This record gives sequence, C-alpha cells and structure tokens, in this order.
Amino acid sequence: MKKLMVIIIVSLLILNSFIIPNKVYALSNFPFRIYSFNPIVYQLHYSMSSVFSIGLNNAVATWNSHLPSGLLAVSSQVHYSNTFPSKNGVNEVFNLSMNTEYIAMNSMTYCDDGMHVFLYESDINMNSCHSFYNGYILFDYDAESIFLHEIGHSVGILDTYDASESAYVMYGYGFINTLKRSLTLPELLHLPSLAY
Ligand SMILES: [Zn+2]
Repeated sequence: MKKLMVIIIVSLLILNSFIIPNKVYALSNFPFRIYSFNPIVYQLHYSMSSVFSIGLNNAVATWNSHLPSGLLAVSSQVHYSNTFPSKNGVNEVFNLSMNTEYIAMNSMTYCDDGMHVFLYESDINMNSCHSFYNGYILFDYDAESIFLHEIGHSVGILDTYDASESAYVMYGYGFINTLKRSLTLPELLHLPSLAY
C-alpha cells in the first residue's frame, strides 16, 4: 500500500497587535485522526517540572473526556532527547529555548497506510523563552491551557484566528495570565466533524 509521511508544524503565537487577519476563520480540521492502533502517548523531558506534568496530564484528561478511550495518554516514563522535533517514533514533550516567536509548537507527522490517514507522531515544545505556571500569574502562561490547545492539533483541529473566537481553546494566539481549561461549546459541537 502507498505510504505517505507528511510533517505539519503548528505554533501558538504570541499575541501581536500588528497581526489582524481580515479573513473570517472557523474551526477546521487536519486531514488525519488518531486511531487506537497508534495511540499518542506523550513523554515529558526528564528535566520538566510538575508544572508541565500536571498541566499535560490534566489537558489529556480533558480531551479524553470527549473522545473515545485509548487514543491519548501520558507515559509514566520520561525522555532524554534534546532535539525538537525528535521524529523518533516517540511523542516527546520539550521545554527548549527556540525563539520568541511562539509560545508552544506541535510538530506532527501523519501517515496514510491506504486505509487510514493517522497521526503517527506528535512532538510538542513549550518554548522556554517564556515562563509557564499552572494557574493565573501575571507574566506566565498557564501550562494546562497551552497543552490543551496543542493537543487540540493532535486531535485534528487547526488554529482559528477570528477575533470573535478568541475564547476558543483553538484560538491561535495565547495570552499570559489566562486560563482556558475546558472546550467551548462550539468546539464540542465541532468534534463530531472529526468523526471520533
Ligand atoms: Zn495552534
């Protein structure tokens, strides 16, 4: 069967008042899904603190409460890679310093095996140029909120940049001192279009 590996990199950008898209966006989907034959099991880098482990576990739990079981999980094991994206078959989470252009990035590889177009690997970097916390804090991003957004890409949802959708988890800009810890109603209503 024909196999096709495609890499997609999606970042959550810093709010930039100079970027005001005119186009009206709405929630839309990537062309892949997660299947239980290849679940996405995230491993945190060994150096990452409980801020990240709590945030990741909670964000995965939130998505799992709306998805079939067996698609998303967090491993009890940690990884030691310092290369993002690793593209080594393991879904690794990093806290590397990249640049200040993004808050977090999800690098995804998907595969077409002729029967399914499935997410093969998802690597996430929480950019250490920024500070993360779990909760409201003046100059920090809420790790759980950012993970919830990035995992939304793994689940198959693209960013939206419509300012009227700024409350959505999948809004493409992130904010300090802000919590987004549950999916909005439009996002929940959108989930059936993903065919989960
Ligand atoms: Zn995004």
